[in-house]
Amino acid sequence: MAEIVTGIKFKVIKLNLVELQAVEGGYAIGICDSCGKPSFDGYYIAVLNSYYCPECFKSWLRRATYFPEDKPIEDRNFNYWKQQLEKVGNL
Ligand SMILES: [Zn+2]
Repeated sequence: MAEIVTGIKFKVIKLNLVELQAVEGGYAIGICDSCGKPSFDGYYIAVLNSYYCPECFKSWLRRATYFPEDKPIEDRNFNYWKQQLEKVGNL
């Protein structure tokens, strides 16, 4: 079951490959957008519109800076993914 990550300033959804495919289609193979390795579990980072493996997500979060001007894009991406996951009953 996908879940919204709480306690951080960014909008992030923790999900797995099955849930990723439910949104992106069966061709999605769960490749981390940072390290390029396949990862069954990962994080959708709305502000980057990217899927990261747990290791890359952790290191990104440590160094990421929040820019308020990115909020409209982040909100748009996040709301789309949230809606799609709700539609397929995974959130
Ligand atoms: Zn990675």
